[in-house]
Amino acid sequence: MDKTKKKKLKKNGHNWRKFWKLGVEEWNTQFFNVSKDGDLTVSEGHNIYNLKGLAKKYGTPLQVIFPFIIEDRLKDLIGYFQAYMKIYGYKGKFFYHYPMKVNQNKEFIMPLLSEGANLEVSSANELWIVKKLWEGEKFNTKMRIFCNGPKTDQYLDLVEELRAKGMNIVPIIEGEEEIERLSKYKGDIGVRVDLDVKADTHWDKKFDRFGLSEKSVLDLSKMKNLKVMHYHLGSQIKTQKSIFDGIKHAFSIYVELQKTHPNLDTLNIGGGFGVPYEKKKFYTAKNVSSKMIKMLKNLSDKAGIRHPNLAVEWGQYIVAPSQVTIYKVISKKYIPKANAKAWYVIDGSFINDLKDTWTIHQKWHAIPVNNMDAKLKTVWLAGSTCDSDDKYTAGGNYILMPKLSEDEDQYIAVLDTGAYQDSLSSHHCLLSEPVKILAQDGEAKVIRKRETAESIGKLFGWNGDSK
Ligand SMILES: *Cc1c(COP(=O)(O)O)cnc(C)c1O
Repeated sequence: MDKTKKKKLKKNGHNWRKFWKLGVEEWNTQFFNVSKDGDLTVSEGHNIYNLKGLAKKYGTPLQVIFPFIIEDRLKDLIGYFQAYMKIYGYKGKFFYHYPMKVNQNKEFIMPLLSEGANLEVSSANELWIVKKLWEGEKFNTKMRIFCNGPKTDQYLDLVEELRAKGMNIVPIIEGEEEIERLSKYKGDIGVRVDLDVKADTHWDKKFDRFGLSEKSVLDLSKMKNLKVMHYHLGSQIKTQKSIFDGIKHAFSIYVELQKTHPNLDTLNIGGGFGVPYEKKKFYTAKNVSSKMIKMLKNLSDKAGIRHPNLAVEWGQYIVAPSQVTIYKVISKKYIPKANAKAWYVIDGSFINDLKDTWTIHQKWHAIPVNNMDAKLKTVWLAGSTCDSDDKYTAGGNYILMPKLSEDEDQYIAVLDTGAYQDSLSSHHCLLSEPVKILAQDGEAKVIRKRETAESIGKLFGWNGDSK
């Protein structure tokens, strides 16, 4: 950026919001703004959270969870599908199933349930959480649970136990060895098809190991309780074309499968809807849901079958934007010849707290929390483990951050960190995880205290006694 442009931005406070790509619904930043003092804020209706204030009060590293963003997103998504079903005269029903593996924290699950989410679980331990909810009479008995993933005996026993208690729990056949036991299951079941389509995702592998092949699925002998055909193309699908290619192909199998299994009535298209992490042009749920319903209606009418119920398991799309991770810059190091002029060393870790930075080279929207209207510098961010991979360079490019000031600590926010990072997090160099704050109804409170040396030591067997 040239100097005059920078100066102009500095003068006009209003432009900083645009400069940092805030206030834009398509990028999920519509709740974010810049205060007149140059601080990053989040608005929940008329309540405003000042993120610098939270960082100072609770210390860093810090995760701030905004349940109202989760609720807002799910309400919108369900609204889009229901509206387009009505508009196009679609006779099937819409079901949202939240894939628990994306974020199992209670503070994420409860707002989703309050907006009418059903669930999808991928392990016996996730299902155990559902059992706890059930025992606490926390949910409507109409809620449905899909059970994916390979089924250990422990997992299947729990499925059967909960089914016997009256829960609407639908195991999805994942491998050949599950067919026999599940065909005798006293409730609805589903089957996962390993679709033979290439989707444009980061996980675009040639060989998938999930579900049954198309041929094996079509060879299944008649099962009266087979209600759901499921597939999942992968996460963070890059183009809407890939989403539609998947549906078109899956639909052709669904039509065939229904001939053998007359009670099949639901197409579950899995997860994968992307998040515009990089704040560039991206497809939107409003647009895709409209095209999807239109397409499914036309395909069903042409094939002469009843419109399938549609289930989606878009996890990352719903929850990623509801959490922000905040760090403090604790050191600056000059970089001799590179795209960035300096390292800003933060008081947390990308490898530990935001693991996808390291494993899948996730790009994040990293922006200042304070001094958002100050002079800028090109930087790379470094975590404080002693690992040379603990860094964020925006893919070797650079990040813009304020020049450090003598008078004030500099805080940095990473947006959209609500999906996957938490259960993948770790303790490299035994750093503490970020403290977790819930921001709700205008108030913030600590929901997980900062780990101490003692509590982390215990995880590694240092119990303070000699045994
Ligand atoms: C991981 C997963 C999801 C969620 O994927 P997102 O990319 O977060 O939408 C949904 N369904 C299944 C079967 C999954 O494995």
